[in-house]
Amino acid sequence: MELHNPPLTLASPPAERATIRCTNPATGEFLGEVPVMGRDEVVARLERARAAQVAWRETSFARRRKVLRRILDHILEHSDELCRMIARDAGKTLENATIELWPVCEALRWNLAHAERALRPQSVSSGLLVHKRARVEYHPLGVIGVICPWNFPLQNVLAPAIPALMAGNAALIKVSEWTAWSAARIQRIFSEALQAEGHSVDLVQLLTGYGPTGAALVASGVDKLVFTGSMANGKRVLAASAETLTPVILELGGKDPMIVCDDADLEQAVHNALVGTLTSAGQLCMAAERIYVFDAVYDRFVALAAGIVGGLRQGAPLGPERVDVGAMTMPGQVDIVERLVDDAVARGARAVVGGKRGAGGQFFQPTVLVDVDHSMAIMREETFGPVLAIMRARDEQDAIRLANDSAYGLSSSVFTRDRARGERIARQIVAGSTVINDFAMHYMAQGLPFGGVRGSGFGRLNGPEGLRGMCNIKAVVADRLPLHAALKMYPVDPAAYDTARGLFKVLYSAGLGGRVRGLVDVGRALVKRLRRPG
Ligand code: NAD
Repeated sequence: MELHNPPLTLASPPAERATIRCTNPATGEFLGEVPVMGRDEVVARLERARAAQVAWRETSFARRRKVLRRILDHILEHSDELCRMIARDAGKTLENATIELWPVCEALRWNLAHAERALRPQSVSSGLLVHKRARVEYHPLGVIGVICPWNFPLQNVLAPAIPALMAGNAALIKVSEWTAWSAARIQRIFSEALQAEGHSVDLVQLLTGYGPTGAALVASGVDKLVFTGSMANGKRVLAASAETLTPVILELGGKDPMIVCDDADLEQAVHNALVGTLTSAGQLCMAAERIYVFDAVYDRFVALAAGIVGGLRQGAPLGPERVDVGAMTMPGQVDIVERLVDDAVARGARAVVGGKRGAGGQFFQPTVLVDVDHSMAIMREETFGPVLAIMRARDEQDAIRLANDSAYGLSSSVFTRDRARGERIARQIVAGSTVINDFAMHYMAQGLPFGGVRGSGFGRLNGPEGLRGMCNIKAVVADRLPLHAALKMYPVDPAAYDTARGLFKVLYSAGLGGRVRGLVDVGRALVKRLRRPG
């Protein structure tokens, strides 16, 4: 019999609107309405997912790979349509939409090539138990609940769904209310692949709704949760999941440092800083939100960055003009970025480029902000906007100290021509990842685990660690030899205690002397036993 987390008895979440009205954040264009799913629907869908998973968990890796291959083929065949969908739903440029698709394709390729090896039973040493074999097995957990933010509407869904499926699970995925319009189209990617391979479409189901729909999923009794979102809601999810003891992976916000040393290739560093702050208009969990540049090259770095950013075009991505930087997906995000920039300027920072809301939609101008310091909220809170906040660092130690002075710890990067220096700085940064002389490339190396420390959360997606995170990691001990002698512990043998203590010394003493003393103790215990009547 399988044991699952019992569903928590909760009052129905507060009623909100019955539908979500979806609009293009860059133009205000009405896109459509999607349903707000209530607790009952979440529970009903969980039951369907559970039923579908019973057969799926028994499928071979070869059959699972066929589904993944179809998903990849679908994305390749419809890449233009999917990029346009992302552009309309999230307000990002088509070029930025491809940045969503690329890691998804890479994750599929990696799983097709490597997942079976990562999930195969693995033999380990059985230690003293020479007559036994020991191994680790990776069993599916059941149904994985996923809760997504709005910044990468397609990738936030597929990144956890791919390992969940490959490991033999079903997935219930609650998308963000701000990019819910894409959900039906993304559902089609999974449903068509599953159906074509003869599996139930209930294995992957996308849920739409606001926070209470997410809360209903947390309380529903899923076997594990992957929550990607803000630190504040991550804490709420963690507290609520304690009620059902549902394990959680938290992929939360970031305030990632980028260190530019005095020996860095400045052109390379500046262009990476632009990718790290302007991609998806800065709405990137691992955005380079704090750029520390050594004194010696600070002015040149700022001049180079300002020169490029000053010439960028911003506007509606699918309009008649070609644009470099798109819109803010969530309406309130413009206010957040404005508040942080205004606060910094009031405390002495200077916006050498931009610094204001953009016209005609949910825009914030691409901004270069200098003379910032850690007394300013913009160096402490997540900005999630197109802002290069550039601060001077005296030297290596100063840069490392500043980089680690944060409540977050998602990713980081360092630029230097000195390989040893790059490695030395990387070792000292407290974060889930460090990339030397590049930005975010650890996400393209899908064999690497992805996740954070501190306020950026815990648990890992991607790579073998991500796949195994979707599993019950089970220890199995079995016979190596057909020996069936009983280990008779009861009734308790009078010599058992002294014999055990002697054996400890024999097995674990550092020197020969200790081992010999142990042997003597064992001998004495046995002799005492033989002499004892009865
Ligand atoms: P958010 O926390 O506001 O919302 C995330 C999701 O949680 C949404 O689907 C929302 O409906 C749901 N939710 C809200 N309240 C809930 C509750 N009480 N219980 C369950 N679900 C609830 O985050 P957001 O504004 O959508 O996304 C931006 C945040 O996501 C940023 O902090 C960003 O850094 C982070 N993020 C992190 C990663 C990562 O991998 N570490 C990736 C992308 C985004």
